Amino acid sequence: MSAAPAASAVPAGVDPDAPAPSAVSNRPDVNREAHSFSRAQLEALMTKRFFYIQAFEIYGGVGGLYDYGPTGAALQANIINQWRNHFIIEEEMLELDTTIMTLADVLKTSGHVDKFADWMCKDVKNGDIFRADHLVEGVLEARLEGDKVARGAAVAVEAVPAEDAKKSKKKKVKTAAVKLEDAVVEEYTTILAQIDNFDGKQLGELIKKYDIRAPESGNEVSQPIEFNLMFESSIGPTGQVKGYLRPETAQGHFVNFQRLLEFNNGRVPFASAQIGKSFRNEISPRAGLLRVREFTMAEIEHFVDPEDKSHERFDEVRDIALPLLPKDVQESGKTDITTKTIGDAVASGMVDNQTLGYFLGRIYLFLTKIGIDPKRLRFRQHMGNEMAHYASDCWDAEIHTSYGWIECVGCADRSAYDLTVHSRKTKKDLVVQKAHREPKVYDRLVAEVVKKTIGPRFKKDAKMVEEAILEMDQKALADLQSQLKNGKAELKICTGQTFELTPDVVSVEMKTIRETVREFTPNVIEPSFGIGRIFYSLLEHSFWARAEDVDRGVLSLPPLVAPIKALIVPISSNEKLAPLVKQVSRKLRSAGVASRVDDSSATIGRRYARNDELGTPFACTLDFASLSKGTMTLRERDTTAQRIGPIDQVIEVIRRLCDGSLTWEGACKELPEYSGQQDVDE
Ligand code: AMP
Repeated sequence: MSAAPAASAVPAGVDPDAPAPSAVSNRPDVNREAHSFSRAQLEALMTKRFFYIQAFEIYGGVGGLYDYGPTGAALQANIINQWRNHFIIEEEMLELDTTIMTLADVLKTSGHVDKFADWMCKDVKNGDIFRADHLVEGVLEARLEGDKVARGAAVAVEAVPAEDAKKSKKKKVKTAAVKLEDAVVEEYTTILAQIDNFDGKQLGELIKKYDIRAPESGNEVSQPIEFNLMFESSIGPTGQVKGYLRPETAQGHFVNFQRLLEFNNGRVPFASAQIGKSFRNEISPRAGLLRVREFTMAEIEHFVDPEDKSHERFDEVRDIALPLLPKDVQESGKTDITTKTIGDAVASGMVDNQTLGYFLGRIYLFLTKIGIDPKRLRFRQHMGNEMAHYASDCWDAEIHTSYGWIECVGCADRSAYDLTVHSRKTKKDLVVQKAHREPKVYDRLVAEVVKKTIGPRFKKDAKMVEEAILEMDQKALADLQSQLKNGKAELKICTGQTFELTPDVVSVEMKTIRETVREFTPNVIEPSFGIGRIFYSLLEHSFWARAEDVDRGVLSLPPLVAPIKALIVPISSNEKLAPLVKQVSRKLRSAGVASRVDDSSATIGRRYARNDELGTPFACTLDFASLSKGTMTLRERDTTAQRIGPIDQVIEVIRRLCDGSLTWEGACKELPEYSGQQDVDE
């Protein structure tokens, strides 16, 4: 919630000399930094050019729900397309499309019904609702900003109440310019570095300790309580089958695991992938597309042998240097970034295993390829409390925007948790069987239950007793064996009940096992992408205003993802040009280049400017020389430079510029500069 930095501002801790992505036009001849970034200007452009808009706008809108217009939908589709190429096709993943409406039992088993919640607190007088961690974060940040103001820097801070609690408009709250003691500044900074690590009780303590109040009213707020983020529903007319809109796509992969494994000829590792909508009833859906209630996710579940988490393509990413923010740095209250190669990060144990490291590298390559500025990208490791208890390591790819650092991709090693709980609940095997090269021969204790006696002895509890015996590990079996030698043994099960076992019910013996197959539950490494967050961050990283006119906004989207690749501009509305416009349009289409004609009566300059706002990288201008000489000019969006050449050659150049096989510098070698003299007057 700090004031917006300049579009190109390099956040603290990031290496300013990191290479710019090739996809982003950041050439020295283009001055993208003449004006500081204005979020208001970008938002106005998004609305004017219908990238996206709050849903149900004509009814007053609903917080956290957005509709994408033609330009936004095309940009999103292109990002998704790149994602499919980069992950699903490049890595031979198995693509899925599973249902959004999810059986409640599935989400109960996965832990979402009980635990998929955020901490919420209420303004005790007017009922405004806040997400507790955001409230603490916002107020402490505002106080730190106020301290900066008191020390001479001019900044303004926004504090926004939850839109559901009250249909109030977002109000800007000016921070009070109050100087803080140095020790307090340090305390607040430490808390902010660890903000994701606090549970509800701890957030409540912080609220009390630092007298955190509702920013607008100044009223006290209640202790944080849990709010489950899932949208509940029912399936069918009777309402008896409970369901939820899925909060992630992952469960659809796990419940289909055995079929996926079969499809992959019973072998691991393999990965499944899915792109689809997820729903979370966010407490306070602020920050535009960054925190919404319905969003597109792209998730990968990579299933791997827990005893071998190496990755066969690790060498391809080993030398990529990543900006990393490890957990111990955050736990010490700091946010300094370390740049390390993936190879070193895995070898030193900072990143838990090769497969996780491999995906961090692939995520980095994907994000920078579509135009995310690598200087505003970091990988933050989860701290102890933040990480699910079953996860062995987790890193978020965070992108810096005017809202601060935003988690855009989560990448977690979820161990065997999901498959284990679903298998336990459904009594279906979700396991891999791997043949040993040589059979393994070893001795182990084995329990044998005597069916004839266990039933009559324990009646309705017999099955439960038998299961508890069969689940015993070697240590428990050794203990049982020695007790049975004395004639009886006590069995305590998870329900708390105890049963007396005797040698006529169960025996324990050492046996020689000859194992030809190893059976195991695979571990899962899950990269999970929020497409809307990436989409918005990309827009911020691409937006700038021309040095000569702050109102002339440009979206420097890479051709790879730009909604439209080429604009066709007839120089005048003279009907003689119409057949040629159609012809060029057809040729671009058959070259696979998405184009649009702008034959409006606006001046050519206005038409170019409109197109710069749409992020269209190239414009083909048809004039009377096109009719007489068969030439066409090619304008590049960022430099506004124009080249000229025969129509077919220009189209071929555009095609290669768009598929990434030619750079603009290369195009300039093939096409001469347009001097304006090549025109032939009508
Ligand atoms: P998570 O399962 O919470 O780790 O979320 C996975 C990814 O989904 C995150 O990295 C975000 O990019 C995205 N995401 C989560 N919640 C939201 C939301 N409310 N609005 C938009 N994107 C979200």
